Amino acid sequence: MSSAHHTQFDLLVDLPDEAATLALGAALARILRPGLVIHLCGDLGMGKTTLTRGLLRALGHTGAVKSPTYALVELYVISGYSVYHFDFYRFNSPQEWYDAGLEEHFDGQSICIIEWPEKAGGLSPAPDIEIELVAHGDARRVSFKGSSEAGTSCLSALPMSSLHTTR
Ligand code: ADP
Ligand code: MG
Repeated sequence: MSSAHHTQFDLLVDLPDEAATLALGAALARILRPGLVIHLCGDLGMGKTTLTRGLLRALGHTGAVKSPTYALVELYVISGYSVYHFDFYRFNSPQEWYDAGLEEHFDGQSICIIEWPEKAGGLSPAPDIEIELVAHGDARRVSFKGSSEAGTSCLSALPMSSLHTTR
């Protein structure tokens, strides 16, 4: 991550192992609000789906959390929320956002979590929270940014102390 990129993010947390990524997802589950749009950025294998899995498990989902790479979207109705998990990796051009017919899911009530949001080239609705995962040795480092008032106020409730699972 370049230092210029660094500075626009509000929070930076080390994720020493997969359990830490799952725990971060669980922490995010506790601060969710209806209508939140969350962007998950970072290269293949950085833990975007793992983080989403941690979030959904914390909401009580016991089944599998598949990567929606082929389906584009998976819906989880759980704990009173409709959570849409998107993956735009397969978009060949941002134009495919229009063809995909996904806009209706951004209804102000559902929670929308998007892997590879940049593949929609800014055509999809703006995020409330942006999360970026990067490699840090064999581990990961995550940065957060509140991109709307709702997102920023949500993130301020994130229990940071619960995230440090370093041994
Ligand atoms: P993505 O959705 O970003 O492509 P996945 O979540 O599918 O990534 O895969 C992430 C891989 O990295 C998994 O093998 C997972 O076990 C591993 N992983 C997740 N978080 C960490 C971490 N904090 N440190 C090391 N490995 C991790
Ligand atoms: Mg993924």
